[in-house]
Amino acid sequence: MAFVLRAFSNGIDGVFIGGCHLNECNYITHGNYHALNMVLLFKKIMEHMGLNPERLRIQFMSGAEATLFVESVNDFVKKVKEIGPLGKGKGEGIDDNELKSRLREITKLVPYIKVVKNEKLGTRLENPEEYDKFFTKDEIDKLFSEVISYYIDPEKCQACMTCARRCPVEAIISAKNQVHVIDQKKCIKCGTCFEACPPRFGAVTKITGEPVPPPIPEDQRTVVRKGKEKKED
Ligand code: SF4
Ligand code: SF4
Repeated sequence: MAFVLRAFSNGIDGVFIGGCHLNECNYITHGNYHALNMVLLFKKIMEHMGLNPERLRIQFMSGAEATLFVESVNDFVKKVKEIGPLGKGKGEGIDDNELKSRLREITKLVPYIKVVKNEKLGTRLENPEEYDKFFTKDEIDKLFSEVISYYIDPEKCQACMTCARRCPVEAIISAKNQVHVIDQKKCIKCGTCFEACPPRFGAVTKITGEPVPPPIPEDQRTVVRKGKEKKED
């Protein structure tokens, strides 16, 4: 998904993905089924973004089917030319800056989308008639209207630093004996910190459909451990 987004973000008008025939993958992972599901999902996301989903196509063929490959690519190029430049095709009409911003937002959400749709992405669809209905418009609208955010509860954080060490994008502002804070602009919503925070602290919370509370001011981040609090009392 990230590769497709990178192509569109670079102004490419269409993306063609070629894979081996289903059930002919050399590997037990059968990655072509996964690629198919990813394309089906991304086509719906394109509709959600206001882009024509026909700008993305996946087709299966063997290495011996050179003629099929040439015909498929030529047909795809013809189709994309008919649709027109990215964002300017019939029914699109998206301003360049707006398009860039939409693509940037979706790119940021790729890890989140993959986590949320993980189970469906692993399905092996055998019947092409199932393709179009596999992901629905309502499901995609819900996916983006109910985006989960992660927040560290300053009352519970004990500054053990586990979450900061595990965050893949260094989105957690971390310092010794300081309440940790998630930089929401950097966070890719992977959920790793939620899983990593020790249950005895349970400081990372999931927030859905509500704004994330503002970060605690820097001068109030010193962790007062419960034992010490009692001693001082
Ligand atoms: S969800 Fe947590 S671990 Fe994942 S990017 Fe955001 S802050 Fe980092
Ligand atoms: S893992 Fe939990 S307790 Fe530890 S620093 Fe992160 S949020 Fe705080």
